[in-house]
Amino acid sequence: FFGLKKEQAIGLSLIDTAQNPELDAAFKKAMQTGEKIQLEVKTLFPQPRILETTITVLNTPRAKGAVAILHDVSELRRLETVRREFVANASHELQTPITAIKAISETLQGEGIEEEDLRRFMRDIEQQADRLGSLVSDLLSLAAVESGPAQYDMTEIDLKEIVASVIRQFEPQAHNYGVILESDIEENLLVRADWAALHKILSNLLDNAIKYNQPGHKAGISATIEGETATIRVWDTGIGMLSSELPRIFERFYRVDKMRSRELGGTGLGLSIVRHLVESIGGQISVDSKPGKGSEFFLRLPLADKED
Ligand code: ADP
Repeated sequence: FFGLKKEQAIGLSLIDTAQNPELDAAFKKAMQTGEKIQLEVKTLFPQPRILETTITVLNTPRAKGAVAILHDVSELRRLETVRREFVANASHELQTPITAIKAISETLQGEGIEEEDLRRFMRDIEQQADRLGSLVSDLLSLAAVESGPAQYDMTEIDLKEIVASVIRQFEPQAHNYGVILESDIEENLLVRADWAALHKILSNLLDNAIKYNQPGHKAGISATIEGETATIRVWDTGIGMLSSELPRIFERFYRVDKMRSRELGGTGLGLSIVRHLVESIGGQISVDSKPGKGSEFFLRLPLADKED
């Protein structure tokens, strides 16, 4: 933990070896009081670590001293921080539509509201309720995919069939946005995956390809085979993203354009669900994008064994 070799340490004082004043002070205190001491020691060298430390005094006829047991809890603390941030983000996201619904209902209780305004307020409430619904449903999906890979049923899937089903599902939405959908998958291209997981992955990617697009532009799904792997490409000729944004878009609640995502009913969770699902079914995902040109997501999946 301290980047030391035994030979370098013997005969030197603790502060000269471990070079950690917190640890040194705790040892001294333990020796003075004779009591067991527990503390968290932080190190920077050879790498940043958080060490849960217990110091116990030893008093034997032959030796007087103290022993410290150091337990590396860095990963545990990191996960706790991630979880805390997640809870804070989720609460904030849920709070926004709740506050909006409350504000609208308070306004509605006022007097002399015109018929036209009434309808608009009702539509707003419905929109906010839909938003709450999407958030809760995405949070549940995320909880399900994070709980482990046990529930996946890996079977042979005809790519043309599953892509046709996804495209069919999104035709109405694409029509509303004025986006033209295309698909190009050859016959008998069989991959090994879980049907529901792959359907959800393609749906989330195509949903984005339509949402972050422009009327008259295109979105679609195509596939190629390279060796034992099928590469499925979900593409669009929409607004695209800066390459500096790309490493972050799979993070929970990360959105490039918060306003646009919210207006389109986005939760910022779609791609983190995609990433989890892809990992759970043994695939890989990557992305390429250019602002104003469009985006391409590449999903790599193992081909199904033809002899099966
Ligand atoms: P959201 O619910 O906001 O769509 P996602 O996790 O699905 O959340 O995506 C995260 C962010 O990545 C989006 O808010 C958007 O800014 C960006 N993004 C995702 N897909 C695309 C795309 N095809 N074109 C442009 N931007 C995209």
